[in-house]
This record gives sequence, C-alpha cells and structure tokens, in this order.
Amino acid sequence: MTPIAIHAFNPGPMTGAGNWTWLMPGRVPTLVDAGTGLPEHLDAVTAALGGARLAQVLVTHAHVDHASGAVAMAERFPGVRFFKMPWAERDSRWPVEWESVTDGQVVDAGDESLTAVHTPGHAPDHLCFWHAPSKALFSGDLAVRGTTVYIPSNLKGDLADYLASLERVLALQPSTLFPGHGPVIEDPSTLLRGYLEHRREREEQILSALAAGEATPDALVPLIYRGLKEQLFQVARETVLAHLLKLEREGRAGRRGDAWHIMEP
Ligand SMILES: [Zn+2]
Repeated sequence: MTPIAIHAFNPGPMTGAGNWTWLMPGRVPTLVDAGTGLPEHLDAVTAALGGARLAQVLVTHAHVDHASGAVAMAERFPGVRFFKMPWAERDSRWPVEWESVTDGQVVDAGDESLTAVHTPGHAPDHLCFWHAPSKALFSGDLAVRGTTVYIPSNLKGDLADYLASLERVLALQPSTLFPGHGPVIEDPSTLLRGYLEHRREREEQILSALAAGEATPDALVPLIYRGLKEQLFQVARETVLAHLLKLEREGRAGRRGDAWHIMEP
C-alpha cells in the first residue's frame, strides 16, 4: 500500500515545513488529514485524484493544521464525508458534518481497509490509521522524524497518555509511518523507542532540578533546555508542565501556587 503524499503548502513555526496529507486512490478515494484549506493544496488533491471523486477525509486530530481545511474541502469536493474521533469543543470550530470514528473501527479507504487506533497524548482525539497487511500506519502527530512531538497541556495534551500511545504503536511492530509532518518513517521502532527514552531523561532532569529546591515551570525551562530560542519558550514551558502534571498524578511532585516541589516516596 503506497499512498500519494500531498503537501498542504502551510509552512510555519509550529508546522515546520508544513503538513503532509495522504491520498489513497481506488474504490473509496480517501484523504488522510485536511490541511488548512489552501487553494494550492486543494488543486494538488484534485490533480492527484485524476478525475475521481474524493469520497472521504479521515482526520487524525482537531489541531488547526490537520482539521481546518475541512471547510474548504467541503466546498471544493461536493459530497465528501469527514471522519474523526469526536472532540466536540474543537470540532465545532470547523463547521462541516463530522462523522465519528472511534478506536478499533474499520473504515474502507482506497481499495483497502484501515483500522482506527486511538493514540491520545498530543491531542485527546488523536487517531492513527492502521493498514494491517502492510503494517503501515498513518501516524498524524504521533512522531516526526528529526524532532520530538509537542504535548500541549493547555490543549488537553497528556504526557502519560502519549507514552502509552507510543507503547501501543510499538506493540503493533509497524514497518512504516506516514506522518503529518516530515519524511516517511521507515524504521518506526527505533524512533519510538528513542522518544520513550528521551521522555525518561527529561523526567529525570526535572526531578533532579526539583530536588535542588522548589521551582516554577518558567524557572525550570532554562535549566532543562539550554540555549533555547526565545520563540520556543512557550512550547518548552508547556512540555515541562506536561511532565510536572504527570509526576503530580503519580504522587511524585506537588505544587503550592505555581511553585513545584518533589514528593518523597
Ligand atoms: Zn497536532
């Protein structure tokens, strides 16, 4: 199964070079992710369809760079259907008729079928789509080669969920990931194991920083991210907070106001 990569033409500080969307042509022409609705993207989808009618768009999660293009797509491709795991507050920003897909559900796509795999963490509604015969996974924002994945705690990101999602996908032993950003990932297990290791290291860094005395997330950021660029501070702060919230839930860290401290076991 080789989907057609179609770029969404939306480079930016949070999307890097921009998003990839994935077309599966065939009996049920299916696009994975909607991009942001730029005309260049819609034109590229039209060209790749080669005269076929786009049947449906499977959206991995309701972040703007994956979902917001649904509105423009609904206009350009009359009759197209949109599927995602519901996240009511967010989905309503893009007024199309969202149909629900949940964990384990099988959907026809192209000439194949895909199984939805709920992989929360980066976003609560995050789905990957699994093609069992080829062990390929449309992986949304689960993994991006060359960098780590942002866990926005202010947008229902959850680090513990994310780690569980990585373990879940590792257990599938995928051969290939077709991601929302960056190149195709041909050796997923190495990358995903690297992510787990990286998060363990970050957690250790945060625990040892807190062992030296209580600290706010703002104070922890420069201790953990050395030489951080100014414009990435907010993202780093959210990541530190995601770690702290996980540690709090595990009873290993606590807070008074905005100051966090370590909890003795
Ligand atoms: Zn995202």
